[in-house]
Amino acid sequence: EPTENEPVKRVLLAAPRGYCAGVDRAVVTVEKALELYGPPVYVRKQIVHNKHVVTTLEKRGAIFVDETEQVPEGATVVFSAHGVAPVVHEEAQALSLKTIDATCPLVTKVHREAVRFANEDYDILLIGHEGHEEVIGTSGEAPEHITLVDGPEDVANVTVRDPEKVVWLSQTTLSVDETLETVRLLRERFPAMQDPPSDDICYATQNRQLAVKQMAADCDLMIVVGSRNSSNSVRLVEVALEHGARAGHLVDYAEEIDESWLDGVATVGVTSGASVPEVLVRGVLDFLGERGYADVRPVVAAEESLVFSLPNEIRRDLKAAG
Ligand code: SF4
Repeated sequence: EPTENEPVKRVLLAAPRGYCAGVDRAVVTVEKALELYGPPVYVRKQIVHNKHVVTTLEKRGAIFVDETEQVPEGATVVFSAHGVAPVVHEEAQALSLKTIDATCPLVTKVHREAVRFANEDYDILLIGHEGHEEVIGTSGEAPEHITLVDGPEDVANVTVRDPEKVVWLSQTTLSVDETLETVRLLRERFPAMQDPPSDDICYATQNRQLAVKQMAADCDLMIVVGSRNSSNSVRLVEVALEHGARAGHLVDYAEEIDESWLDGVATVGVTSGASVPEVLVRGVLDFLGERGYADVRPVVAAEESLVFSLPNEIRRDLKAAG
């Protein structure tokens, strides 16, 4: 029984959390490539932005490189879930690489939108984080037509050729609320600006943020499992703090939790980014359980059932291998 000074400890566990359909597909793609072709399999960039996933695949024989030219001629290379610019396909072809494209279909959708609006000679305002791989890939589809808008503060700097012919698109893993604000400010400047044909911020990003919003105000502490370079994971900490969590931290592993974070904490919220395997969340729940936070209650914001089929190259070779 808790004493007067000791808070009633509990955990609120967000759902959905962790792997989305695009990440699952990308990770399985590398696993199947290793089985089919044997190591080493080269992967351009981190297949997904998660430290644990990358080190686990490295142990099985995946070699992660930053540039296409680091892949030996004729080798097999997997492109990451974040997508690549057309120039990367050309580089791979020049090196006679066997390519397997693990770009998430929801990122490919944004690429197609960019190509379509560029062909119609629109100025495309791409809302996203400067330097993020997905943004580099999407921009590469139509560099002449795309201007990056990195959040509300960036809106004042935007210039377009014809304010009557402007459309906005976005990175898939942004904060939903901040993006709405960016769009509102852009529309003040360009009232005729068109919306994307459908949401570019993906279902997984939206659902993970929705779950965090539902529980944040009840949380003295929110622990988000995810890597620093994972855009959607970083956003979850921000969303938690904006919606009333008293504190919020991003951790790759349970061991990174600082015991002092738990001082006086009754309710701990737990969630994970779209690139995070559930085993890491288990680790956090075990860590908390050992410290008295054994009462775990799910907070369910949405049900997810989307599954993407593997890239064609892999499906074909799996079939041939029987
Ligand atoms: Fe695809 Fe969204 Fe997952 Fe990114 S976060 S891989 S866009 S489903």
